[in-house]
Amino acid sequence: MDTPDGSTFVTHLECSMTGQHYPADRLHNLSDAGKPLLVRYDLPAIAAAVDRDELATREPDLWRYREFLPVRPENIVSLGETMTPLIELDNTSKRLGGGTIIAKDEGRLPTGSFKARGLVMAVSMAKQLGVTSIAMPTNGNAGAALAAYGSRAGIETFVFCPADTPEINVREIALQGAHTYRVNGLIDTCGRIVGEGKEATGWFDVSTLKEPYRIEGKKTMGLELVEQLGWEVPDVIFYPTGGGTGLIGMWKAFAELEAVGWLGQQRPRMVAVQAEGCAPMVRAYEAGAEHADRWEDAHTVAAGIRVPAAVGDFLILRAVRESGGFAIAVSDASIDQARTEVAADDGLLLCPEGAATFAAYKQSLADGRISTDDRAVLFNCGSGLKYPMPDQADTVDANEPVDYAALLAAARG
Ligand SMILES: *Cc1c(COP(=O)(O)O)cnc(C)c1O
Repeated sequence: MDTPDGSTFVTHLECSMTGQHYPADRLHNLSDAGKPLLVRYDLPAIAAAVDRDELATREPDLWRYREFLPVRPENIVSLGETMTPLIELDNTSKRLGGGTIIAKDEGRLPTGSFKARGLVMAVSMAKQLGVTSIAMPTNGNAGAALAAYGSRAGIETFVFCPADTPEINVREIALQGAHTYRVNGLIDTCGRIVGEGKEATGWFDVSTLKEPYRIEGKKTMGLELVEQLGWEVPDVIFYPTGGGTGLIGMWKAFAELEAVGWLGQQRPRMVAVQAEGCAPMVRAYEAGAEHADRWEDAHTVAAGIRVPAAVGDFLILRAVRESGGFAIAVSDASIDQARTEVAADDGLLLCPEGAATFAAYKQSLADGRISTDDRAVLFNCGSGLKYPMPDQADTVDANEPVDYAALLAAARG
């Protein structure tokens, strides 16, 4: 146990590459091998301390999994991290021949994206470990979540965004209290600026997978999904993959659930979804490689998955392969089309990254990698309202009599 009062079940941290152990009660970035650190728990003690049926009596937020989390209760910095609903896309499914398609709608979380799961944990742990200043590179949503939780915790934050980050993201980050900068480069360039500034500024670097706790937050997606499905996994999960925190986190969640006896050996096939304009994991998956080379000239409408190089590449590829899943790239045109279809058919407004998972679902169904017998979960990782939408409205002149017959005829095509 890392804490004298025994209020968490953390035992130590472990290098995801070499297995080397590190003490849990101090600040870490990457391991000595330059790889992500994973948090390890006394899982037998968790199994003895709590029963899965007990969870039903707890608040419907991610702190219901507190035994599997590293934060001591007094350090929790919360904005209400609600459980997110599973929404069956019934009409969409009917049109596609009847498979079960479930969207997990992460847009309901604070700051409108699942980045809240990771950052609530990273910032709470930063508070626990005495950090007073934090910096990160972001494509938008992570910066917004960092800014919000940082302000709430009274921790100073510095956020660096690629200059073409959607305006709404840059503005929400600044409005929520971060010192916010546009950078003429991509996210890895922003990451370099954060890393190189550490010594001069003393800020703590919470870049994706460069500190151990964002994975723990994202892990709750896996815990929550399995609980919501009645302690079962779906057949296949389509995950929009940038840095891969969520995919890695969910894979870890399933292993921990099995270790405490709440889940059997079954696993969903994990599908890493990327955009054709930035698909380093797909290229590495298809080449049978363990690591992914940097993707040059990355571009896609789905900014959240525009990540040319991921420090956890080998963990993403391992989870995909061990699960019997695959990696798949979709075009920007198919992302736009997918977003339009699900919004019109099922009334769920996806973010572009979420739409990418539906585009990938359709593509996988068409090429036979999955079938309508598979129960599929798609991750809609952010609120669709944060992203540009096409203008499809017509006009009515209020100063003229309205010709309702003509209006109906035109509306119904
Ligand atoms: C960050 C982000 C992703 C990618 O998530 P990772 O777990 O880092 O791969 C996908 N979609 C949106 C909207 C995001 O903000």
